[in-house]
Amino acid sequence: MGFLKEVDHIGIAVQSLDASLRLYTDGLGLALDGVREVPRYRIRIAMLRCGESYLELMEPLSPEAEVARFLERRGEGLHHICYRVEDIREALRACEAIGLTPITREPYLGAAGLPVVFLHPKSAHGVLVELVEKKAPDLPGRPA
Ligand code: ZN
Repeated sequence: MGFLKEVDHIGIAVQSLDASLRLYTDGLGLALDGVREVPRYRIRIAMLRCGESYLELMEPLSPEAEVARFLERRGEGLHHICYRVEDIREALRACEAIGLTPITREPYLGAAGLPVVFLHPKSAHGVLVELVEKKAPDLPGRPA
């Protein structure tokens, strides 16, 4: 098996969490896991559980936020895919070895307090890729 263990979450840029959450919770029936601000990116995020993965709705809190510029250019929609890895430094080295370009030289602590790193979409066929070092969620019925 490769070093990408599972999809941890899919990031979706939205204009308004309040407006979009209704679709995902009341409409689609996903459980809201929490809403929090991420000052580093000047956004507010809502995590919604879907099986063993999450959707991460991202709402800009400032016109200077990267997500605000993304919304201006492309409108609401898919923003990034985040994969769980066991060892982020090892995964980063493996990604660089196949030509993926990290956006920061080093992993750093993301919104959930776990080490993350982003890889440039230009090096990955247009997809912004995030890696997070995280153990799989402890779910009932999941093989150990
Ligand atoms: Zn993310």
